[in-house]
Amino acid sequence: MNDNSDLIGIEGLLSAEEIAVRDKVRAFVDTEIRPNIAGWYERAEFPLEIVPEMAKLGVLGMHLTGYGCPGRSAVEYGLAAMELEAGDSGLRTFVSVQGSLAMSAIHKHGSEEQKNEWLPRMAAGEAIGCFGLTEPTAGSDPAGMQTFARRDGAGDDADWVLNGTKRWIGLASVAQVAVIWAMTDDGVRGFVVPTDTPGFKAVPITQKLSMRASIQCEIELTDLRLPASAMLPKAKGLRGPFECLNEARYGIIWGAMGAARDSYLTALEYSKERLQFGKPLAGYQLTQEKLVNMALEINKGTLLALQLGRLKDAGGLQPHQISVGKLNNCREAIAIAREARAMLGGNGITLDYSPLRHANNLESVRTYEGTDEVHTLVIGNHVTGIPAFR
Ligand SMILES: Cc1cc2nc3c(=O)[nH]c(=O)nc-3n(C[C@H](O)[C@H](O)[C@H](O)COP(=O)(O)OP(=O)(O)OC[C@H]3O[C@@H](n4cnc5c(N)ncnc54)[C@H](O)[C@@H]3O)c2cc1C
Repeated sequence: MNDNSDLIGIEGLLSAEEIAVRDKVRAFVDTEIRPNIAGWYERAEFPLEIVPEMAKLGVLGMHLTGYGCPGRSAVEYGLAAMELEAGDSGLRTFVSVQGSLAMSAIHKHGSEEQKNEWLPRMAAGEAIGCFGLTEPTAGSDPAGMQTFARRDGAGDDADWVLNGTKRWIGLASVAQVAVIWAMTDDGVRGFVVPTDTPGFKAVPITQKLSMRASIQCEIELTDLRLPASAMLPKAKGLRGPFECLNEARYGIIWGAMGAARDSYLTALEYSKERLQFGKPLAGYQLTQEKLVNMALEINKGTLLALQLGRLKDAGGLQPHQISVGKLNNCREAIAIAREARAMLGGNGITLDYSPLRHANNLESVRTYEGTDEVHTLVIGNHVTGIPAFR
């Protein structure tokens, strides 16, 4: 698709290396995702065979260094997320769950043994990871989690025994390793759980109307016994999972603009070709206003993502700034995808065109990693100094 969405020369703010990463991922999306996505989406299928291909592309644990990880910058990771989500949010979600959630939890909080055991295999696509925080009754407020890990035995070598239920956990039924967050007598702790451990059961959630080319599961943990060494030693309290969520939220800021751009370009191309009342739809002022409003928001949202990426690469990105990007870019992207759908008329409700698929996926994207309301409260807290979460 001819991409003339960059109206203000944003490409000029990127280095040659950054452009090369973007173009490589864009080419992958064009050949590996676009031709197949409608079928995967319709069949509610996550294409497992794409995992090693994504590893070769260098997008698994992309922004992590050492342990076989690609070690790219935050901006390069963001550009990759944008291109992947122009293909489909479900495929970008896999990369986020693997790299920003599961791998970054082990990378940030794990022991040397845990890092050496899992990270090289996960970067190579030989092991899939998942990240279990949300529960049936604890979503926006994970402090309410019921999953409990108790010590069994005496001393520091005592086993851990986990019981509880996690919900909406991406990739859990195909994962080899799960990072599970659980309450303990000492507050929230994280555990590295091989999914073949007895007592681990993951069942995919079916009948989804969003993220159909992706897997989310309910996990049951029943008297699941782990050695003392399974706990992530450096994650204490909710700061542990929150630091990982911030990584994933950052990727979403870029990714949402990818889905928006693909929706916009689809509507633009369609409206130039579709004739009604004797001329192309793109020739009507009402249509041009819609296209222009979409393009303005895509340019602003992409600039916002780039600014936050530069801050992240400089080590200064603050949590409320991530909320600014996540709230704004998801909100604008879903509006753009819905508008683009309407501009395709009846054809817009089929899988022949991407906008309704993107709009449906973005319902999940605006919900996970902090809903619109949660990010509004984070920013509200920052600007007023008054927390209003409770
Ligand atoms: C496709 C998908 C993939 C996911 N992947 C994962 C994953 O891999 N791992 C994982 O752990 N979780 C995952 N999640 C879970 C996701 O993070 C939660 O769905 C999300 O945090 C919201 O929680 P909830 O669904 O329980 O909604 P709730 O927290 O019950 O919220 C319901 C509504 O109430 C609003 N609300 C909540 N609190 C307030 C408040 N204080 N003031 C005003 N409004 C409020 C919310 O904004 C929302 O609109 C995934 C979810 C989806 C849909």
